[in-house]
Amino acid sequence: MESSPLISIIIPAYNEASGIERTVNAVISVISACQINWEILVVDDGSQDDTNQTMMRLNSLDQRIKSLRLSRNFGKENALLAGLEYASGAAMITIDADLQHPPELIPAMIAEWQAGAQIVHAVKRTRQQETRLKKTATHLINQLISSLGGIDTTNSSDFKLLDREIAAIIVNQLPEKQRFFRGLTSWIGFTEAYLYFDVEQRSDGVSKWSFGSLFELSVTALTSFTSLPLRIVSLLGIVTLILGFLIASDAIWSLIQGRAVSGFATIIISILMIGSFIMISLGIIGEYIAKIYEEVKARPHYLISNTIGIKK
Ligand code: UDP
Ligand code: MG
Repeated sequence: MESSPLISIIIPAYNEASGIERTVNAVISVISACQINWEILVVDDGSQDDTNQTMMRLNSLDQRIKSLRLSRNFGKENALLAGLEYASGAAMITIDADLQHPPELIPAMIAEWQAGAQIVHAVKRTRQQETRLKKTATHLINQLISSLGGIDTTNSSDFKLLDREIAAIIVNQLPEKQRFFRGLTSWIGFTEAYLYFDVEQRSDGVSKWSFGSLFELSVTALTSFTSLPLRIVSLLGIVTLILGFLIASDAIWSLIQGRAVSGFATIIISILMIGSFIMISLGIIGEYIAKIYEEVKARPHYLISNTIGIKK
């Protein structure tokens, strides 16, 4: 065991006091059967419940169970990043705190890594217990990202194994504030492997994603991987220009023929249509400007209020 590599299991947790202990134990029962050294790093994403106290207790039982506490809720993407930065394993596995990602897959992931894969993606075979709205939204976003951004994130999850080298690249060389972990890990390339799993029901509590945060993530996913929406804006402009020319020539032709150009309705409709095109376009441009603003402010991704069992 002495010479076996250290594997870090990173678990982002936001108000998961009710289930975190069960998850940690489930992970331990799987990895202690593997011939590896391990550490579990729970990133407490500013939970307002007893997650932090639970982690202190778990750490006092087993020093290999560690925790980072972020100063407030920074969101899962940032929690994952904090985990990657503070974990010290030769490979790192990111897994949800609600047992929706089966820990039983971990040995297979480690095997893929030992066989040479630098990134192991766990891909959802099925999606259970998600609302129709969420399923449709996720499908739409994945479809958009893969067709516009050229990166296939269909059914991908945040359940992944990353080699230490890959984690370092994500932490140090991808400094963007607006992050989409799933997209970034496919974007960087290297040797990848894929494993499939069935999504379980959430073990405890409720999903921590609100419609708003999901929408936010979708916009981030889209804007950080493609600027095509901006080109669509120009396209809209060209379409209305052509339309304008056609209508203008029709009007002139009618004038030559001596017919009066009627068209109160036409005017109202075209004003409304062009007006909405302009506003949608401004909205799209605004999204990108907002992202640029976030980037130039260059605030840290997260702040740590305390650590449990971590020397750094
Ligand atoms: N999570 C987090 N910060 C947040 C929201 C979620 O760290 O702001 C964690 C959460 O504790 C869980 C994982 O991210 O471990 C996935 O969240 P959840 O199960 O609520 O999402 P879903 O499975 O519904 O996509
Ligand atoms: Mg979940």
